[in-house]
Amino acid sequence: MSGYILDSEIKFLPGVGPKRAQLLEKELGIRVFRDLLYTFPFRYVDRSKFYAISEINSASAYIQLRGTIQSVSLAGAGKATRLIAVFGDGTGYIELVFFKGVKWIQEKLKPGQEYIVFGKPSVFNDRYNFVHPEVEPVSSAAAFGRSAITGVYSSTEKLQGGGISNKTFTALEQRLLSLVAGKIAETLPEYFRQQKKLIPLEKALHDVHFPPDMYALEQARRRLKYEELFYLQLSLVKQKFIKMRDATGVMFPRLGEAFNYTYTHLPFPLTGAQKKVLKEIRADVTSGRQMNRLLQGDVGSGKTLVAIFSALQAIDNGYQACIMAPTEVLATQHYNGIFRYIDPEKVKVALLTGNTKIKERREIYEGLADGTINLVFGTHALIEDKVQFANLGLAVIDEQHRFGVDQRSRLWSKSDIAPHILVMTATPIPRTLAMTLYGDLDVSVIDELPPGRKPIITTHVGENQRRKVYEFMKKEIDAGRQVFVVYPLIKESEKMDYENLEQGYMDITEYFKQPDYITAVVHGKQTPENKAFDMNLFVSGKADILVSTSVIEVGVDVPNASVMVINSAERFGLAQLHQLRGRVGRGVEKSYCILMTGYKLSKESRERIDMMCSTNDGFELAEADLKMRGPGDFEGTRQSGLAIDLHIADLGKDSPMLEDARSAAFDILTEDPLLESPRNALLARNLNEMRGQVVDYSKIS
Ligand code: ADP
Ligand code: MG
Repeated sequence: MSGYILDSEIKFLPGVGPKRAQLLEKELGIRVFRDLLYTFPFRYVDRSKFYAISEINSASAYIQLRGTIQSVSLAGAGKATRLIAVFGDGTGYIELVFFKGVKWIQEKLKPGQEYIVFGKPSVFNDRYNFVHPEVEPVSSAAAFGRSAITGVYSSTEKLQGGGISNKTFTALEQRLLSLVAGKIAETLPEYFRQQKKLIPLEKALHDVHFPPDMYALEQARRRLKYEELFYLQLSLVKQKFIKMRDATGVMFPRLGEAFNYTYTHLPFPLTGAQKKVLKEIRADVTSGRQMNRLLQGDVGSGKTLVAIFSALQAIDNGYQACIMAPTEVLATQHYNGIFRYIDPEKVKVALLTGNTKIKERREIYEGLADGTINLVFGTHALIEDKVQFANLGLAVIDEQHRFGVDQRSRLWSKSDIAPHILVMTATPIPRTLAMTLYGDLDVSVIDELPPGRKPIITTHVGENQRRKVYEFMKKEIDAGRQVFVVYPLIKESEKMDYENLEQGYMDITEYFKQPDYITAVVHGKQTPENKAFDMNLFVSGKADILVSTSVIEVGVDVPNASVMVINSAERFGLAQLHQLRGRVGRGVEKSYCILMTGYKLSKESRERIDMMCSTNDGFELAEADLKMRGPGDFEGTRQSGLAIDLHIADLGKDSPMLEDARSAAFDILTEDPLLESPRNALLARNLNEMRGQVVDYSKIS
């Protein structure tokens, strides 16, 4: 829609100009009118009421007071000079403190005059004060905006420096809104708005910036959130429908020798959840359509076996299968583990990683190209150009969030036929997020652990208790168990992290002396050979303790390990803590996870640690994580290459609305798959325009 007013460049808005335009684009990504209009306040301030100074308590948020300046004075000297104004309202007195712009503010504040003071009270020397509040003479306070409820926009230092304060920003929004009044095109069909009781777009955009009252604000936000979620789902569901129509899948009708051999040689029965998921997969691979399935299951829930049984179905029907893992350790472990379950006479298996020797590598390439290899495990080495399959029928991707979208999609182009796709993750993703991240995939969940697992006992201890932790480790090791000790590794503080790990390693080897105790150490700075050597020491049971960074955590299976000690646990996210904890508790013995932290914890860190101590349920933790941190930080969101860029909706808090929007999208597309009916013309057009803005989800699988 060229010429549409919302597409006008922001520099053309009166009061902006080229300089501010540059600043707005650089700091907030605001390029055109639409961008400014869709930059919503992140917080609202209720100025409909004045508080009394006597009412102020520790819970007081942003509030406004009305009263008189009693006195103004300077305190401190040099750089520490500050301005203190004593302000009273008849119920008490409070100090207003200014560190910056002292001169200018001093001129503005006149003792004896009435002011409105607005800010957040803080505590200093056991008394409340206001640091840098907004102060306006009562006489001019009317200019503060029309509504009692005002929005606060997020700002940056550079914006402030460039003269774009919250007040300026608010003024720009107001100017823009009057400029575009009557010219904003509605984006949802009338019939749909009525059905969902959504207010018109133009009103919503006005009220979200300048709400006349709380009810109007709520309606405005609901309308804008709904639209955002709805179009996202419409786009996902449409792709899903197209894929279902287009992608014919290979058929695996037979359950044959390979499958049955493994089934009868299992040392334990499958769990109900494993059976349920296998049935879902069975239905997919006999449907004639290509399978695109996400399998979620907590650490240790037995996803590998599901992958193997799926692969065996491919093999029994004359197709090849591959299972790709993010690390060499994992791929090797999968490979070594399979010989417990298969008949090597009937199923020819190979392992392909970056370390596979050239001669062997060549043989594997040949075997895959001529079809003599039935099943291949591997790492990224599987997606190199040289790898070609004779007839790849199934591709499994383990720990899928560790792979980029692009890497994954390359796997499906390795064969003439479109293979069935099974992606697996041990990072439980809350339903709402899964619906969005993987909105075009079918989702299976293993929600049951194999029997006999005892819950892992999680405790939180201070760093000063290290000796006690060592004593406890010793007790477990003397009873024949093994122990993980993990240190965080964060890019920004990499150097210090390695120092911590080294220090920790020395400390441990000091306490756990060789040859009575063997301690292995694994981190990213070692040569691959050293890493593999130490890893092996631990996996084979020769080492009692494994000291490592967190980067190697995924998927390693050492059933004899019973203790996981996590240093600086406050620096990890919930999902990662849970992943790490999942490394123990795999055998039958009682297992422990010890979270060590410093004394001073932020409120969020404490919440996370408490959460970890209170539940072993990965899904519960994932939901909590999403609520606490939002989807942007969610593990897997960033790596997967899917930026979920929502302006106003919140996947954590708006999940009922998301479900409603998704089912609305389903209903509309079921009736009108190509959005051809005239009443859906608006939807079709808007969806088309969204392309390019929204990530192309169709590439995921
Ligand atoms: P994950 O889902 O984390 O990949 P794995 O597939 O590695 O879990 O399984 C964890 C452990 O549980 C393995 O040692 C595996 O042999 C075992 N296991 C898998 N399924 C069952 C089952 N049905 N009963 C008992 N143990 C099982
Ligand atoms: Mg696994």
